[in-house]
Amino acid sequence: MTFPTDYADVLKRLGRIDPIEYGRTRNYIDGAVTRLSPYVSRGVISTKQILQSVFDRGFRLEQIEPFVKELCWRDYFQRVAQEKDLQGDIIQPQASVNHHDIPTSIMRASTGISGIDDAISGLYRTGYMHNHCRMYVASLTCNIARSHWRQPARWMYYHLLDGDWASNACSWQWVAGANSSKKYYANQQNVNTFTRTHQTGTFLDVSYEDLGSMDTPEVLEGTTTNRLVSDLPSSGSIRFNADLPTFVYNYYNLDPSWHKDQPGNRILLIDPSVFEQYPVSPRCIDFMIALGGNIPELQIYVGSFASLSHTYALGDAYYKEHPMNQDYSGIMEERDWIARDVIGYYSSFSSYWRAIKSLSQLNVRES
Ligand SMILES: Cc1cc2nc3c(=O)[nH]c(=O)nc-3n(C[C@H](O)[C@H](O)[C@H](O)COP(=O)(O)OP(=O)(O)OC[C@H]3O[C@@H](n4cnc5c(N)ncnc54)[C@H](O)[C@@H]3O)c2cc1C
Repeated sequence: MTFPTDYADVLKRLGRIDPIEYGRTRNYIDGAVTRLSPYVSRGVISTKQILQSVFDRGFRLEQIEPFVKELCWRDYFQRVAQEKDLQGDIIQPQASVNHHDIPTSIMRASTGISGIDDAISGLYRTGYMHNHCRMYVASLTCNIARSHWRQPARWMYYHLLDGDWASNACSWQWVAGANSSKKYYANQQNVNTFTRTHQTGTFLDVSYEDLGSMDTPEVLEGTTTNRLVSDLPSSGSIRFNADLPTFVYNYYNLDPSWHKDQPGNRILLIDPSVFEQYPVSPRCIDFMIALGGNIPELQIYVGSFASLSHTYALGDAYYKEHPMNQDYSGIMEERDWIARDVIGYYSSFSSYWRAIKSLSQLNVRES
């Protein structure tokens, strides 16, 4: 599994989506998922652009609703992040927490559940994990090993090329019952079905009733405090033309089509304080920089927005709205949304989806 960084290859991947097969198979590890999330999370393409491309190929909403809903899950979590502090438990405190570390066997991919261990090894190898496996890992970690969700979420975010704190924290909390009404469990039969494995006799090979009340198995008992650091590139000096507007890119906005035809200073801002709070792996840093190669004359600046602004007397720089950009100033532009006008906090995805459907609020049109 590879993740090319050339924009033309990303657009090719967009053109290969099979949204009907997706609805039938997305829960299986070999299902027709798109693997577009690294590009969505890095702001190279938007959910709106994905949906438009599928409509442009002649698919209609009623044929592909499961696919559209998943895209909207992503927008939904972004809306939650605009309203809530995602460092804390969103709806209710996670119940039955024994510690704030990570089970060592999860980190070592040695839980003994082969469908899950293979998924963790795959994450280390590729920077990607299938959604269902992410749910299994989070369930094992939070609900069987009783870890609080936050440190394990940071560990997974560190390794994911599609690391997005909104989707990540909201999903971990959803599994752990802190952003939902109940905890999510999967037993061995469920794992076998969707990961195409055939294990029996494991600690997960029990009924759902027993799963909810079982003691933490020995293999999940040992824990590790994970120390994550980002290895950032060094900053060179910037060629700056004060007569041109400035466009500020970052880990969450690497959109090559943004103000594409407008001359300007184009700066990839790598703010160490953001990467200290949300560390990412060397592979993720390399991926960001390679994706930046799609933006002509993009220059890297390592430092805060304030120091960039002060050093180069920036004036009104352009940037895209994002909860991690609270300290930016200048001309803030909206991100692309599938439902631009459905804003604010909805306590569940179903209420958000209902609002979109009842108001016919799709910001994308069928062909
Ligand atoms: C514990 C856990 C942690 C997660 N962490 C992240 C994360 O850091 N970054 C991230 O982008 N997603 C995260 N997700 C959501 C989801 O797993 C990924 O978006 C999805 O697996 C990406 O693969 P894909 O592009 O092949 O998705 P596809 O299934 O092909 O979906 C198409 C697009 O729809 C969106 N999407 C699909 N499923 C979801 C979902 N459940 N939630 C939100 N958006 C969705 C994504 O933008 C995705 O690219 C997490 C889920 C869980 C359970």
